[in-house]
Amino acid sequence: MLFRSLTFFCGAALMFSSGYSIDKAATQPPNILMIYIPILMTRVFGIGRPVFKYLERLVSHNWVLHVTSDLRKKLYDALEADSDPLSENYQTGSLLSLLAEDLGHLQNLYLRTIFPAITSYFFCLIVIIALGWFNLLFGLTILLLMLVELVVVPLFSVSLETARRAKQKALKSDLYANYTDQVLGAGVWKIADRKADFLNYTTETSKEMRSSHHKSNRFDWSRDFLLEVVFGLMAVALLYFTNKLLTGNQAQANFVGAIVLALFPMSDAIIPVSQGFEESTTYKDSVVRLNNLHHSKKELTNQVDLAPKDLKNISLENIKFTYKNEVNPIIKDFSLEIKRGEKVALIGPSGSGKTTILDLLLGDLQIDQGSISINGNDISSLQQNRSKLFSVLNQDTFLFNTTVYANLKMANPDVTDARIWEVLEQVQLKELFETLPEGLNTVVQEAGARFSGGQKQRLALARVLLQDTPIILLDEPTVGLDPLTEQKLLDLIFDALSDKTIFWITHHLQGIKYIDQVIFLKDGAVEMQGSPKELYQTNDHFKSLYLMDQGLLAQ
Ligand code: ADP
Ligand code: MG
Repeated sequence: MLFRSLTFFCGAALMFSSGYSIDKAATQPPNILMIYIPILMTRVFGIGRPVFKYLERLVSHNWVLHVTSDLRKKLYDALEADSDPLSENYQTGSLLSLLAEDLGHLQNLYLRTIFPAITSYFFCLIVIIALGWFNLLFGLTILLLMLVELVVVPLFSVSLETARRAKQKALKSDLYANYTDQVLGAGVWKIADRKADFLNYTTETSKEMRSSHHKSNRFDWSRDFLLEVVFGLMAVALLYFTNKLLTGNQAQANFVGAIVLALFPMSDAIIPVSQGFEESTTYKDSVVRLNNLHHSKKELTNQVDLAPKDLKNISLENIKFTYKNEVNPIIKDFSLEIKRGEKVALIGPSGSGKTTILDLLLGDLQIDQGSISINGNDISSLQQNRSKLFSVLNQDTFLFNTTVYANLKMANPDVTDARIWEVLEQVQLKELFETLPEGLNTVVQEAGARFSGGQKQRLALARVLLQDTPIILLDEPTVGLDPLTEQKLLDLIFDALSDKTIFWITHHLQGIKYIDQVIFLKDGAVEMQGSPKELYQTNDHFKSLYLMDQGLLAQ
């Protein structure tokens, strides 16, 4: 604030001393030295102004970044606490970026609204006191005009623009949603041959948005114009009073031009205040959101340390589950007993709740009724070391955009290079990486673009093998692969994981020969259950499904 005031001061003093030099020079002083000092001052203030301005930026930005960096830390702590497996508050990446953006807004609020306003008020107060001391009426006139500039107009701006900006924000989010719809659904519109409708879809909203922005711009322009006019009035008042008070003699008259000129740089201190006030409404939402961010670190209590080698059985008993904000339970009554080393398949149509059961088993979601336990320990008591018990292979394996080596090592940092090669041989990727020029240092590229679907899943399987947990959860890992690749991957999976306990979610019967127990899920409950062999012999429905899947039965 000091630096900012000094910047304004230098600006005013610069104009003052130049004005004085001009006035003085006009009176043709007998000695050049008479105007030498004012000229020197002009230089000093001329340099001082940018220097102080720079220092002010440096100090205020440093302060704000410091404050917001603490806030950022708080934000990530809060999010991290909420992402623990027992938490209900799922935070998504989009929320994270929204909150990060909020901090950016907070930064702007300080730099563009709060700091300038405080300094301007302070600076103007000093100027008014100085003038009032000089001449009371003069001081009061300027005070009145300053009040208009610094209080009336900013408040008016805020009240008028708040509603408009809120509307613009709503329109903008509408537009985003519509555009996304349009882009994602472009194919559908095209097939339906409805080009005109497609184009009209967002036109109305865009129009409304444009007109609102237009109004905002016009308002900004009129407001700035008004501010300049009031400012002009100040200049007139200044001229009037200086003329009245400073025309006693030649020496005083020299100051007239100087003082009036000194006023102009002060507009830098005054005009941005209204702008800042108006913008502050844009940041209000952000401030509210940040304030609501509570730090809710949930401790995991009563954790049991179950050694992976001691696994005996997994048991789901009469579980019921309803998604938050939903009325009907998605899982109504489901029970399942998995013994150590058993291979179990859960089959059901898409959307029947298979992945939901997996999330419940992992402890990411909590059941309404029933129980889920391992060796008799409730699943919530096993969260601390759950990565030692479970590994998951699902349909969209994520490979990070780094080397294959780093992607594999992620599963288990303690693993040796020899073990990595051994596992790669198991998943039949050893040859590939031996022939690639950069071997394991080959970069995966974004979302694994470099590898085929089958290769990606084999890399994911390698990760699972390196993680070496007793329980493997497979969530439709072969979706999107052609039948031949699918069969090869399934052979590979069940061969490499023959000693593990496997819970496999699938929607058809390919690979069913590896399975000890099949469960059909329908309407949130078990429809049929048993070993494939039993079911084949006793259940006609299963038999026809099986034959259909083998291509032996025409539908
Ligand atoms: P599956 O894996 O069998 O295809 P899911 O378990 O993924 O099915 O989903 C089952 C049903 O639950 C679907 O109808 C889905 O729309 C719904 N569902 C999934 N996640 C949520 C959620 N977070 N909130 C509400 N409903 C959900
Ligand atoms: Mg699913």
